[in-house]
Amino acid sequence: MKAEVILMKCPEARRIYGVRVEEWEGDWFRTWAFPIDEKRAAHEGFDKVKIKGNLSPADEFNGCPYCKSIKFVQCDRCGKLSCWNNEERITCGWCGRSGNVVATEDQINVKGGGY
Ligand SMILES: [Zn+2]
Ligand SMILES: [Zn+2]
Repeated sequence: MKAEVILMKCPEARRIYGVRVEEWEGDWFRTWAFPIDEKRAAHEGFDKVKIKGNLSPADEFNGCPYCKSIKFVQCDRCGKLSCWNNEERITCGWCGRSGNVVATEDQINVKGGGY
């Protein structure tokens, strides 16, 4: 089984966290989220991880360590992932873009952190 760690940012806490993802029959599942700081994430190379496909939460997925959300959105400007708590308008935790929700967990293309 292939496993990676991708980064997401919580707009509420303004902090990043790592999300462990596992590939299973061509789809990716989020299995575990944990707090991490930028330095550590870069050191581990989590900001370079690229994955493609669905990103469903596994049953045991614990959600954002700060706001507990298990949903996320992908920014249409920077392509990075932020927590989503069902707001109609979102603000990207990474680049600050705000707008309507445009992307969901289906068929995303994660390019890594790069903060
Ligand atoms: Zn959050
Ligand atoms: Zn953005």
